[in-house]
Amino acid sequence: MTSPAGQPHPGLPPILRGQKALVTGANSGIGKATAIGLGRAGADVVVNYVFGREAAEEVVEEIKSYGVRAYAHEADVSDEGQVTAMVGRMVEEFGTIDVLVANAGLQRDAAATEMTLDQWNKVLDVNLTGQFLCAREAAKEFVRRGVVPEVSRSAGKIVCMSSVHQVIPWAGHVNYAASKGGVLMMMQTLAQELAPKGIRVNAVAPGAIRTPINRSAWETPEAEAELLKLIPYRRVGDPEDIARAVAVLASDLMDYVVGTTVYVDGGMTLFPGFATGG
Ligand code: NAD
Repeated sequence: MTSPAGQPHPGLPPILRGQKALVTGANSGIGKATAIGLGRAGADVVVNYVFGREAAEEVVEEIKSYGVRAYAHEADVSDEGQVTAMVGRMVEEFGTIDVLVANAGLQRDAAATEMTLDQWNKVLDVNLTGQFLCAREAAKEFVRRGVVPEVSRSAGKIVCMSSVHQVIPWAGHVNYAASKGGVLMMMQTLAQELAPKGIRVNAVAPGAIRTPINRSAWETPEAEAELLKLIPYRRVGDPEDIARAVAVLASDLMDYVVGTTVYVDGGMTLFPGFATGG
C-alpha cells in the first residue's frame, strides 16, 4: 500500500514574517521549493544559483507573488570571495540576514577504485566547504547584529541541508557520504560554538526526494519500485516535504531546537531491511 501523495505547497502560515533568508542552490529541486516555501512563510529571500539564471528568475517571480522581496544572486558556494560578496550584497540590499539554508550540493558518483581526485574534491568543496563558507559569513552578520526581538528570539538560524547519508554508508558514493558525514559534525560543532551567541544551527536530512540529483532512482517504474523498498512510508518525497520542515525549523516555533538533525525521509533511517529480516 502506498501512503497518500504529498501535498505540494499547502499554505504555510507567516512564521517567518519580516525575516531575511538566503537559500543556496535555489533554482532547482529542494532549494527551489525551500526558497518558495520561505517566501510563502513571509521571508524576503535571496535565491542563489551557480548556473541557470532563467530558472532562478522564475523562482524570484514566484516568491515576489507572495508580497515579499526577492532577488537572484549568482555565486559558487565553494568560492570564498563569491560567498563573501553574496552575503555582503544581501546585507546592503535587505539590511541583514536572519536565516541561511545551506542547500547547494551535488554528486559525482564512481566506484572508490575509479574515483578521481577531482571527483572527490569537487563534492567535498561544494557540499562541505561551501556550507562552511556560507555559515561563517552568515554567522559573522548574526553576531554583529545580535537579537532583534521583534523579528526573532534568536540572533540567526542556519539550516544545513544534509542527507540520510550522514549516517547511512553508501557504496559507489564515498565522496558524497563523506561530505554529508562531515556536514553532521560541522553542524553540531557550529551549534555548540554559536549557541551562546543566540544562534541556532540545525540540519535537515532528506531521504529520497524527487529532484534532478537522483532522477535515475525514480524515473522508471522499476527504479521507483526498488527505491520504495528502502522507504517504510512507501512514497518518494517531494521537495515541498523538505521545504516545510526547513521553514518550521528556521522559525521561532522551533526556537529551543539547537544542534539537531530533522530526518525527513519516510522512515529510510529505520533499517527497513530488518522489517522482515534479521
Ligand atoms: P538539485 O540538483 O536539483 O539541486 C542542487 C542545487 O545546487 C542546484 O541548484 C545546483 O545548481 C546547486 N549547486 C551545485 N553546485 C553549486 C555551487 N558550487 N554553488 C551554488 N550552487 C550549486 O538537487 P537537490 O536534490 O535539490 O539537492 C539539494 C540538496 O539536498 C543537496 O545538498 C543534496 O545533497 C541534498 N539531498 C537531496 C536528496 C534527494 O533525494 N534529492 C536527498 C538527500 C539530500
